[in-house]
Amino acid sequence: MNRLAIVIPCYNEEEVINETANRLKILLKRLIATKKILDTSYILFVNDGSKDTTWDIISDLHKSDKIFNGINLAKNVGHQNALIAGLNFVSDNCDIAISIDADLQDDINAIEDMIDAYAQGYDIVYGVRSSRKKDSFFKKHTALLFYKIMKLLGVNTIYNHADYRLMSKRAIKQFMLYGEKNMFIRGVVPLIGYKTTKVYYEREARFAGESKYPLRKMINFAVDGITSFSVKPIRFIFIIGVICLLFSFASIIYTLISYCQGNTVPGWTSVMISLWFLGSITILSLGIIGEYIGKIYSEVKRRPSYNIDTILFD
Ligand code: UDP
Ligand code: MG
Repeated sequence: MNRLAIVIPCYNEEEVINETANRLKILLKRLIATKKILDTSYILFVNDGSKDTTWDIISDLHKSDKIFNGINLAKNVGHQNALIAGLNFVSDNCDIAISIDADLQDDINAIEDMIDAYAQGYDIVYGVRSSRKKDSFFKKHTALLFYKIMKLLGVNTIYNHADYRLMSKRAIKQFMLYGEKNMFIRGVVPLIGYKTTKVYYEREARFAGESKYPLRKMINFAVDGITSFSVKPIRFIFIIGVICLLFSFASIIYTLISYCQGNTVPGWTSVMISLWFLGSITILSLGIIGEYIGKIYSEVKRRPSYNIDTILFD
């Protein structure tokens, strides 16, 4: 039997956390009773610098039952870093860890299937959404676009899998060796290379509160994911540059021929078009190169991704 840790990043989740805690506790007790996991299994809440009463609720939960533990990050570091903090923390205190969102949009009944898959020898088990019926039109389509772009750029991610997954202790230890600061977990986990499998579940709507991933964070997340894994955008710009160069050669020949024939026209339109076109390409290229330079910049600084303020754990 194994000691299970459930890691839950929480940011301003006061509306959902008690309910989540209750449902998971019932599930854990059942799994313990049926001898699927050890009775030392527990839930770890990672409070990601919430501005509401989330941490107070976590402290109360910890007082009520030691199945609930928590770490309080000193400030908001974002979902991915909060998750890394949690996994890093549990890696010495569990045999398997499952990460799940606080809002239980991911069906907790898949946890049992994940544990069964682990028992069959899989080190990493991905929770995959079989449908997104309950997601908003916007969320569904932006998510789809994101996976498509990632695929196009050659980044290996699991389709319709978010951060709901089981990892064995050794998979987590290996994962922690990836020292990059702009960690895109979904892209790194498939690089670990242990035996993996998937379990399917229905994605539910958030049962309370609203998404902590506004458009701004979603775009940041997507840009991070793409630029930390793919250099194709640079190659794409390079190809556009080559095509533009060919075009300009053609236009030089055309201009020279027109000149020799004596058809000297003012040419204002073509000048303006080239000016704008090349101008925009230049700016675009600079933007993309800047994105990569920004990455290098933040990597070389080697700042810690998180800083734990308080620990409730025993
Ligand atoms: N979250 C976090 N830090 C943040 C934003 C979100 O820890 O800065 C947590 C949040 O509490 C939740 C999970 O990340 O447990 C996923 O967030 P959410 O459910 O809002 O995202 P969505 O399901 O809308 O993609
Ligand atoms: Mg959610």
